[in-house]
Amino acid sequence: MSLYPEQIHRMTTASMLREWREHGGKYRLEGSRCQDCDEIFFPRRTVCGACNSLNVEPYRCARTGTIQVSAHAENPILAAMGYGETVPRFMAMVRLDDGLVIASEIVDVIDPRQVVSGAPVRMVIRKHVRESNLAWQYAYKFVLVK
Ligand SMILES: [Zn+2]
Repeated sequence: MSLYPEQIHRMTTASMLREWREHGGKYRLEGSRCQDCDEIFFPRRTVCGACNSLNVEPYRCARTGTIQVSAHAENPILAAMGYGETVPRFMAMVRLDDGLVIASEIVDVIDPRQVVSGAPVRMVIRKHVRESNLAWQYAYKFVLVK
């Protein structure tokens, strides 16, 4: 009998395989395009959601777009934990210039009045989450275009 009868699973440790699979999406905004009906998707898919075709190819999404809806997170959980002074965070649904709508954080902004629907944004790569082994994971976020 082994010391650890079951495989240890730590939710906060990233899966290297998943990291590898999602690399294109997180760093290059890579989605999928159906070669039969031209529908585009993000995140990537292996089957077209419109016509069920398996003829999908990698597709590089537009890097610019506009804010469709935004939410200013004062973050009640963090505030309750004593982190009330933390810089406010902004989440938004961003409509890319090619029509896709994705959820993302809007960074490098303090004033909530700047994060309004219709504001133009562009993609950047920023720190996303920290794993239990202290390694940072990076991912796409958006900044306002001045
Ligand atoms: Zn299709």
